[in-house]
Amino acid sequence: MGDKMILKGQVLSFTDSPFEAPPLDAARIDEALVLQDGKIRQVGGFDALRKAYPTADVTDYGGHVIMAGLIDAHAHYPQTAMIASWGKRLIDWLNTYTFPEEMKFGDEGYAAEIARRYLDLTTAHGTTTICSFCTIHPASVEAFFAEAKARGQRVVAGKTCMDRNAPDGLRDTAQSAYDDSRALLQRWHGEDRISYAITPRFSPTSTPEQLEAMGALWAEHPDCLMQTHLSEQVDEIEWVRSLYPGARDYLDTYEMYGLLGERGLYGHAIHLEPRERDRLAEVGAGLVHCPTSNMFIGSGLFDMGGLKDAGLLVGLATDTGGGSSFSMLRTMAAAYEVAQLRGCALHGAQLIWLATVGSAEALHMGDKIGNIAAGMEGDLVVLDLASTPAIAQRAGQASEIWEAMFATIMMGDDRAVADVWIGGKRVEGNAR
Ligand SMILES: [Zn+2]
Repeated sequence: MGDKMILKGQVLSFTDSPFEAPPLDAARIDEALVLQDGKIRQVGGFDALRKAYPTADVTDYGGHVIMAGLIDAHAHYPQTAMIASWGKRLIDWLNTYTFPEEMKFGDEGYAAEIARRYLDLTTAHGTTTICSFCTIHPASVEAFFAEAKARGQRVVAGKTCMDRNAPDGLRDTAQSAYDDSRALLQRWHGEDRISYAITPRFSPTSTPEQLEAMGALWAEHPDCLMQTHLSEQVDEIEWVRSLYPGARDYLDTYEMYGLLGERGLYGHAIHLEPRERDRLAEVGAGLVHCPTSNMFIGSGLFDMGGLKDAGLLVGLATDTGGGSSFSMLRTMAAAYEVAQLRGCALHGAQLIWLATVGSAEALHMGDKIGNIAAGMEGDLVVLDLASTPAIAQRAGQASEIWEAMFATIMMGDDRAVADVWIGGKRVEGNAR
């Protein structure tokens, strides 16, 4: 048995979903937790834990909040260098900014440099798990997984497959997408904390043959996740309709080819038809809400209230670099704003839950990450609820923790991240 470590602070965990129970009843605060062998061993009162583990080292975070590391359930790490690019909507934005940048990832050295930079930036923002798209190049997947493995980080990613409506140099074929995805999956899926996700970008950039090949691969490896995009912009939906005239709706373009399932992750899902919504609920698939991206590219307002009421599984994500921030705090703030525009005021506990438990459940990893309890993996973020003068003066007026927490959610950034633990180890140096 390895060394034990006690972390003391305001330890925040969820005993229930704040979408199903009153938010204040769904969350609890303890005084301390014990880490051992990469996992959380026990949570409870400080004096009792101190007594039970008299030789353990203690890190005292005072009034800081210790909670599960943030989970970004949909990102494109290769878009790190072109985040915040001006003035385009989805299809133009892909053609003008994204595809030229993704073209560079055939170069292993460049892919490794951006994977390193991306994981440094996201860790600095308190994000400990990411589910990322890569590019069509196997080297882009290798680079991301190799870097995550070196850091002991739990990540999900896959080779982005596109065999039409993308420029020369950024298209594979149905067969090569199948072969390359399968080889990467066999090499990496289940290696340390790494999981492979079968990753067709979206229906417009795949031929029916490619979607069918991806569906076949998923049927052969049903324990993998499958990630893609769904109903992000109205123009895109029209385009999908013209490319797949036989489909009932956008979701049907996936369903027809075996790409609808419980382990499916559908990014955006803004303009859903009633049939799509019912089918997604019936199947138990995961939706991923990307609010900064949806506002930045002008896509629309996700119906958080309605979709949660309908029992859908929803995770939260930045959608870097369509999203305009690496920060899941900024993303929670944007989720609050988008929900407000749809007449729903999300509680701070619901926002934190979405960025931790919600994302973990969408990734089918709710038994490993996203919450603090005995047996869960030791991925933690420590938040300073008074990280800037503006936040500190607001937190000073707060009568309870969620009021203080909400100021950090709305106004906080990487300065609020006091510490990060990945796999039971404190992250040192530049990576934070
Ligand atoms: Zn995306």
